[in-house]
Amino acid sequence: MDYGMIGKIEKAKRYAEERTRIHVESFRATFDGDNNPHTVEYREGQWKCDCDFFLSRAVCSHTMALERVLAGMLPAGVPVA
Ligand SMILES: [Zn+2]
Repeated sequence: MDYGMIGKIEKAKRYAEERTRIHVESFRATFDGDNNPHTVEYREGQWKCDCDFFLSRAVCSHTMALERVLAGMLPAGVPVA
């Protein structure tokens, strides 16, 4: 491996530890729930999930799990469950 690539890999490892450098603006994922897969989206500060619980509560285990995964990378003001 060339020296330039080694430097980039080292930098990538450091960046990956510095999550506050990363600002997630939009996000879409398929989440394999215990029963069914769910589509979860994050856009303009709002979460969306197609599960029944989210419809009535505007929050669910899928969005809360992703808030944890994305901790430090979401805009301030988005509560971390
Ligand atoms: Zn959900």
